[in-house]
Amino acid sequence: MKYSDATPAEIDSALKEAHVAFLSYKNISGKRKAEFLKAIADEIEALGQELVNAAMQETSLPEARIINERGRTTGHCRMFANCVDEGSWVEARIDTAIPDRTPAPKPDIRKMLVPIGPVVVFGAANFPLAYSTAGGDTASALAAGCPVIVKAHPAHATTSELVAKAIKKAVDKTGMPKGVFQHLHGASFEVGQTLVKHPLTKAVGFTGSLAGGKALFATASQRHEPIPVFAEMSSINPVILLPETLSRDAEKTGEKLAASITLGVGQFCTNPGLIIGIEDDGLVRFIKALSAGIKNTIPGTMLHQGIADNYSKRLEASLAQKGISVEGESISPAGAAQGKPLVASVSASEFKKNPSLAEEVFGPFSLVVKCKDLSDLHSVVSQLHGQLTASLIADDAELSKHQNIINSLIEKAGRLIINGVPTGVEVSPAMQHGGPYPSTTDSRFTSVGIDALKRFVRPVAFQGFPNSLLPNELKDENALKIWRMKNNEWGKD
Ligand code: NAP
Repeated sequence: MKYSDATPAEIDSALKEAHVAFLSYKNISGKRKAEFLKAIADEIEALGQELVNAAMQETSLPEARIINERGRTTGHCRMFANCVDEGSWVEARIDTAIPDRTPAPKPDIRKMLVPIGPVVVFGAANFPLAYSTAGGDTASALAAGCPVIVKAHPAHATTSELVAKAIKKAVDKTGMPKGVFQHLHGASFEVGQTLVKHPLTKAVGFTGSLAGGKALFATASQRHEPIPVFAEMSSINPVILLPETLSRDAEKTGEKLAASITLGVGQFCTNPGLIIGIEDDGLVRFIKALSAGIKNTIPGTMLHQGIADNYSKRLEASLAQKGISVEGESISPAGAAQGKPLVASVSASEFKKNPSLAEEVFGPFSLVVKCKDLSDLHSVVSQLHGQLTASLIADDAELSKHQNIINSLIEKAGRLIINGVPTGVEVSPAMQHGGPYPSTTDSRFTSVGIDALKRFVRPVAFQGFPNSLLPNELKDENALKIWRMKNNEWGKD
């Protein structure tokens, strides 16, 4: 199905409607927002097989993955619903007056988080449901009290259209203001650029390429009123193999990583694109098992032709670099729009000299960096850019000897994993999905979990306000309740 690009007039009217909706939506109670978010989840489920079929057809992802992603999408809508219903996300700070304090009286000051206004969300190619129309950016912005304008990803426009219809049904059923959610199409950069430039847009959520994220960030910074762009862009998710632990479990570790590299044809932002180990017998056995796993994996169809073309181009460019050796590649040839699994290796000295080897190759590829010793390994780690994740294969005893590596990794990544693979992001209040540049544009925030809504709020202090004029959350009677409920668990129905 062909959808036409939103015109400048349609974009302007969408933002104006979103602004009008914001004036009422920002004051809607947590209870009503919760009803809305739960209704979105219900309506998405009510789409049934039609949605699953559309997503499978447009993305080439298998049914089980789409069903799983749908569960994640409805799950986070309900998680945010519970969060706003409970209410302590506003982080009420109550500092009461001391009128007789000397030398100056202390005023009553109360602070809380409030929504920032209309948010533009770019649907992500690699998550047609969980990071697109009703994805984490949309659900967290709506939970925060911000209207959302989604720009559908053209690679799954029909899936996006179906989910948009479900959200609009939820808007009607729960009596939300009409402009609280809007859905636009655009297969040219023009639409996205115009949305980001519009003066009524107050923030942007994006997942995609480094070039795309940087371009939108630049546009947002050059506006008369600069706005935040929360872009998740590029991460190679290093896996560090400590030698004593690896030597005990080299084969299993190789198999585990081969499965993680090829999961979903490597199209996860948490794909392990870099493996760092020390040249010894353990690493030789590890590479053998890793290569065997890669050789036996059949190439899969990628999300869209552009992603497949990018993968081939970047893979070819990486393999052409000095000192690169192919360690293993799928024995089956790759067909049209397919990504061929491949692992290569390079010495630490070549890796350190060549910054292009640290760039993301989005697809089923990983590069093994062979270090001479632990200090060589540490120097490779110290040179890494910002990452979403960093993993360590190491037992407690070995880890305790290498606190310096952990300390370096804390500076580099948003999530550190011990003895696990980076793919598979749990939606949990404690999750951090975000990291230093270039993995995201702002490492202080997460795009997964309850705290994702903090991207779309700002703090406001109310000084000297009579109780009756304070927002409900800061009134004497409610503040105490919110404080007491602080330790409640979110994410449950
Ligand atoms: P993309 O090219 O970055 O596009 C994502 C969205 O941003 C699309 O809606 C696109 O608009 C828009 N966009 C991109 N550049 C723009 C610009 N300069 N101005 C305005 N809008 C812009 O990503 P993709 O199509 O999903 O995949 C392409 C590559 O992105 C992949 O090969 C991969 O390298 C990377 N990627 C990385 C991740 C990750 O998590 N690290 C995830 C997905 C993709 P149009 O649709 O109008 O083109």
